[in-house]
Amino acid sequence: MGFILGMDGGGTSTQGVILQQGKECARIAAGGINYNSYSQKQIREHLQEIAEKCREYGFAPALCTGVGIGAAGISNPAAVSFLKECIKELGFVCPVVVMGDHEAALRGGLMGEAGLLLIAGTGSVCLAQDKAGKLYRTGGYGHLIDDGGSAYAIGRDILQAVVRSHDGREEKTVLTEAVFQTLGIHSVGELIGFVYNGGTGKREIAYLAQLLTEERIKSDLVSEKIAKAAASELVELIGPCLSRMEEGFYPILFSGSVLVKNKKIGGFLREQIAREKLPVYVAERKKDPAIGAASWFQDNAG
Ligand code: BGC
Repeated sequence: MGFILGMDGGGTSTQGVILQQGKECARIAAGGINYNSYSQKQIREHLQEIAEKCREYGFAPALCTGVGIGAAGISNPAAVSFLKECIKELGFVCPVVVMGDHEAALRGGLMGEAGLLLIAGTGSVCLAQDKAGKLYRTGGYGHLIDDGGSAYAIGRDILQAVVRSHDGREEKTVLTEAVFQTLGIHSVGELIGFVYNGGTGKREIAYLAQLLTEERIKSDLVSEKIAKAAASELVELIGPCLSRMEEGFYPILFSGSVLVKNKKIGGFLREQIAREKLPVYVAERKKDPAIGAASWFQDNAG
């Protein structure tokens, strides 16, 4: 029997779901497929892993009736055609739809309702859908020029605080010891080695965002400052999306490691939303992004 494969490719991993007649049959996972942070070879391997796992569960790619991919990094036009080409090479002969990871998350999370989605994972982006189904986006242009409030931006801010505090341009912070311990280093010199000696990229910096724990945000001024700055950056993404929608009071979904794992940053964000009187209320997602990517085929059937 035919099946639909839905995928959610964030900055660090890909989560897949196999659906048969709308029912979930299996979950699979592999490495990330963000065209801006993985090589073509890595993306091919990660998609190959997905295809192999489908086979292991008894779902041959040739029997697939639709592949829906939600992936970070698809503002880069080369990404879409590359992902489609890889899927074909793996023996899928069905229609393939590629959308942004934010679109897949919004589709799954709101299941057609008007509202917004704010992602703060490795990268950050805000996407809104109005009552007519039109999409509006702010942010999400990648870590080199954008992605305020993301795990990458927080990791970078932590490293910046460590060197600034070392110089006396910033107060002393517990983050210095936390970073040194995590990296197994003992000096700012070694830190500079970690940053510039090659092998350190977006994911390695984003990983350090975990050091901004709720406990540190409560007890360390520098940590609190970084967390509040992240929340402000994220709030800035919401206004421009809202201004393009019809007046109303909309649900907003929080997604991505920064917002899901760190209650303090989520808390600052809620406070700022209230202070700025933004007409949104935080809601729970209905379905996850992999289902959202797969649901494209249901929404566009016939
Ligand atoms: C990527 C976007 C993605 C966002 C959230 C950004 O770094 O460029 O494509 O939607 O992160 O994952």
